[in-house]
Amino acid sequence: MPVLNETHDLNLRSWVSSANAADTDFPIQNLPFAEFRRQGSDEAFRGGVAIGDQIVDLAAAQSLFSGEAAEGAAACTETTLNNFMGMGQSVWSALRLALSRMLREGAAEQQALEACLVAQSDAEFALPCVIGDYTDFYTSVFHATSVGKLFRPDNPLLPNYKWVPIGYHGRSSSIDVSGQEFKRPCGQTKAPDATEPSFGPCKRLDYELEMGIYIGKGNDLGAPIALDDSDQHVFGFCLFNDWSARDIQAWEYQPLGPFLAKNFASTVSPWIVTNEALLPYRAEFTRDAADPQPMPYLSSDKNSSEGALDVKLQVLLQTEKMRAAGEAPTQVSQSNFIHSYWTVAQMVAHHTVNGCNLRPGDFFGSGTQSGPEHEEGGSLLELSRGGKEAFSLPNGEQRTFLEDGDAVVMRGFCEKEGAARIGFGEVVSTVLPANG
Ligand code: CA
Repeated sequence: MPVLNETHDLNLRSWVSSANAADTDFPIQNLPFAEFRRQGSDEAFRGGVAIGDQIVDLAAAQSLFSGEAAEGAAACTETTLNNFMGMGQSVWSALRLALSRMLREGAAEQQALEACLVAQSDAEFALPCVIGDYTDFYTSVFHATSVGKLFRPDNPLLPNYKWVPIGYHGRSSSIDVSGQEFKRPCGQTKAPDATEPSFGPCKRLDYELEMGIYIGKGNDLGAPIALDDSDQHVFGFCLFNDWSARDIQAWEYQPLGPFLAKNFASTVSPWIVTNEALLPYRAEFTRDAADPQPMPYLSSDKNSSEGALDVKLQVLLQTEKMRAAGEAPTQVSQSNFIHSYWTVAQMVAHHTVNGCNLRPGDFFGSGTQSGPEHEEGGSLLELSRGGKEAFSLPNGEQRTFLEDGDAVVMRGFCEKEGAARIGFGEVVSTVLPANG
């Protein structure tokens, strides 16, 4: 199991000066992983670790490591991180510790490691791993309730919600890394007062603010992962925009759930912030006494005392007009993963309780993370109350759903007294016009 250790020490400083800035997402206490190469080059993608505004090129630095850290670094020279992610906590921790020590002020390896740095501004990113299977959960009760009200006013929250960590099997082929541009999807929709559906471009295109969860070490088919063992299997986290076509969704989602409303694009932030880096931000998980308490396989002291994760989340929007005028993206909502009705450990335990096997690189979406307040809605469906209330942007433009040229940016970070602030970077992607 990952434990709090010297790598989390608030007082650590790095010889990479940008890593010591108060507002950096990537101080020495974070050390997230990505697959990168120099922008515009034909170099092979390889694993890298963020430090301040730089990347430690693990292929270039490989010879500096020894023992388990060297085994991990060797796996990180590959074009995907799947093999590294499958090695397990002991290797992940060994590489993190070695990197932490080498990047500290006064480290003997400074000169050698300096030669292995690539500026993040010079890099481009790939998906960090091959995502074999993608499962999308639905863990915000606030999102489930407000969306339920729009789709089923008389029956917003279905009776299984408070018993089962609801999810569906999504599609991994259309998941791409930040910078993704995708065409507005076309499909079947039916207006409530129409007698028949019609075909055309989606008119209610939306984003979903989610956390992404990467599975590291897998489990054998038929061998469930117990709730308290989930930390041995969760490699880390990213930001995740699960694009959604609400009008297509409304017409198709019954009886078998989302299909073409969800599989045209989904975008991840490039960096995987490790489960170990996030330990200082674990939080108590509580369930309202009036609600059903989780069944025994979804309940433990450890899950209650540290199952939740305190990650502040933001959504920003930049329209084509704003971009042309050089205006920065404007915030449309903020929320926190701490509101999740189910913990990551509960998602892992539930997913495997029937014997289902997870594999290195498998990916979970947390479901849209809306907070309790209307302003904390994690989708436009909620913020515009089902498209009924447009909201204004600072330049006077109005939105209910997304228009062509809109770019959606999501950011996330953790911050509290006594721990280093760590961030996730950002995920940005842009809506292109539909096929003509
Ligand atoms: Ca989703």
